[in-house]
Amino acid sequence: KSKGKKQAKSASKDIKQAAVLGAGIMGGGIAYQSAVKGTPTVMKDIRQDALQLGLNEAAKILGKGMERGKVDSKTMAATLNNIVPSLEYSAIKGADIVIEAVVENPKVKAAVLKETEQAVSADAIICSNTSTISINSLATSLDKPERFCGMHFFNPVHKMPLVEIIRGEKTTDDTIAAVVAFSLKMGKTPIVVNDCPGFLVNRVLFPYFAGFSQLLLDGADFVAVDKVMEKIFGWPMGPAYLLDVVGMDTADHAAGVMAEGIPERMQRIGNDPIQSLYQAGRLGQKNGKGFYDFS
Ligand code: NAD
Repeated sequence: KSKGKKQAKSASKDIKQAAVLGAGIMGGGIAYQSAVKGTPTVMKDIRQDALQLGLNEAAKILGKGMERGKVDSKTMAATLNNIVPSLEYSAIKGADIVIEAVVENPKVKAAVLKETEQAVSADAIICSNTSTISINSLATSLDKPERFCGMHFFNPVHKMPLVEIIRGEKTTDDTIAAVVAFSLKMGKTPIVVNDCPGFLVNRVLFPYFAGFSQLLLDGADFVAVDKVMEKIFGWPMGPAYLLDVVGMDTADHAAGVMAEGIPERMQRIGNDPIQSLYQAGRLGQKNGKGFYDFS
C-alpha cells in the first residue's frame, strides 16, 4: 500500500514555483498560503494598489501569528520573501502551476487563461479558483485543456482546510495528481470532484441557505435562528452570520448559477431576503453591513 502511495507521489509533477493571478481576497490568501509553506509564488494583478493590499494582508496574518507565538521572525521574512508581486505576465514564465483568482467574470477569466497559456511553459499546470463557472467551459479557452482543472479554495484561505479540485472532461490524471500533491504541500485537504454547478460544498450549502430564507419568509427571526444553529446546535456560526462572511452579492450570484444549472434541484425563492439585502446594498462584512452591522 505504502509503495503505491510513494509511486503516485513521485509520478506527479514537482511544483517548485507557483503563480497566482489576482491579488484580491482569494488570490492574496492563496499566494500567502503557498509562500508560507515554502513555495516561491508570483502574485500578479493588473493594479498596483491590489498587489499592495495582498502583501499587507500576508504581513497582517504573519503579524498575528507572531503575536500568538506561532510564527517566528525567520518564517515571517521567508514567507514575505517568497511572495513576488508583479504586474507583468513575464514574471510567471517559470511557474510550474498557475492559480487564476481574478474577478468572477467568464470573459475576463477566458482572456486571462489564454494569456497565461502563452506566458508559461508547455507543461505548466493551470487552475482556476472559480466558485461558479463551469470548468469545462473555461477549458475551451485553452489550447491544452488536459493541463487545466479547478482548484477551489475557501475564504479565509489560511484558515479553511478544504480545497475542491475539479476535474474537467479533458483534465489528465497527472494534472489531478500534481494539484492534489500541491494542495497537500500547501497544508490543505483536497477532494477531487467532477464539474457540476456548486461542486460539492455549495451543493450542500445553498439548499441550507434556501431553507433559511424560507424560514425568514415564514416569520422567523434571523438572530434567533443563528443562536440556535451556533450556540445550541453547535455549528461554528449560524446561516445569517455565514452569509455576511460569504457576501450577499456572491451568495445571490451563486444561487442564480445553481438554479440555472440544476433547476430540478434548486429554484430561486420569490422575495428571497438574501436578494433583498443584496439589492439594498447590504453585502455583509465586506461593506460593514449585511444581516448584522459590523461598524
Ligand atoms: P476580488 O475582487 O477580491 O479580487 C479580484 C482581483 O482580481 C482584484 O484584485 C482585481 O484587480 C484582479 N484582477 C481583475 N482582472 C485581472 C486580470 N486580468 N489579471 C490579474 N488580476 C486581475 O475577488 P475574490 O473574492 O478574491 O474572488 C476571486 C475569485 O475567487 C473569483 O473567481 C471568485 O468566485 C473566487 N472565490 C471567491 C471566494 C470568496 O469568498 N470571496 C471563495 C472562493 C472562490
